[in-house]
Amino acid sequence: MALSCRHVWDRISEYIDDTLDAQVRADVERHLAHCEICSAILDSTRNIIIFMADDRVFELPLDFSKRLHARLDDVLQHEYPEPREIGPY
Ligand SMILES: [Zn+2]
Repeated sequence: MALSCRHVWDRISEYIDDTLDAQVRADVERHLAHCEICSAILDSTRNIIIFMADDRVFELPLDFSKRLHARLDDVLQHEYPEPREIGPY
């Protein structure tokens, strides 16, 4: 069955937690594949969870922080590349 955006938003946390049953999960994935809005919401929701986790609100695997920062550096480098040349001051 085709889900509306509203339905996807209602299920997004379960989707991230991977607690949806296979059929619903497949429906959500089908929707996400063609809906930019819901994909963006999924990304933001994941980011919020990552940032919350970075404050050590939750118990984390030992090297989680290291991996997270490596990943963030990666993303930041990609989204905000450093200027290629920095002139002498
Ligand atoms: Zn949608």
